[in-house]
Amino acid sequence: MSAETMDSVFIDIELDEPAASDPELAKKLEEVCTVGIFKATENGTEIVQGQLDECVLCYLCEEAAPEGSLRIIKKYEA
Ligand code: SF4
Repeated sequence: MSAETMDSVFIDIELDEPAASDPELAKKLEEVCTVGIFKATENGTEIVQGQLDECVLCYLCEEAAPEGSLRIIKKYEA
């Protein structure tokens, strides 16, 4: 596996609509995540695949998003 692979090994993040398309939530997510996993765009949240494995499981993003709309999936427990 190369270092440039876009696939995350350990972490996946699911963000449901309509939350994913909310530009205000996108800004909030970009702000709370210290490892740059969320990118705010005018169309909502972009999840930066290459950063996923940097997740420190602080769950600030889950708290910032509407209840149940954002889930951190730990692949290694699956
Ligand atoms: S749990 Fe923390 S580090 Fe992981 S994506 Fe959410 S805000 Fe970022």
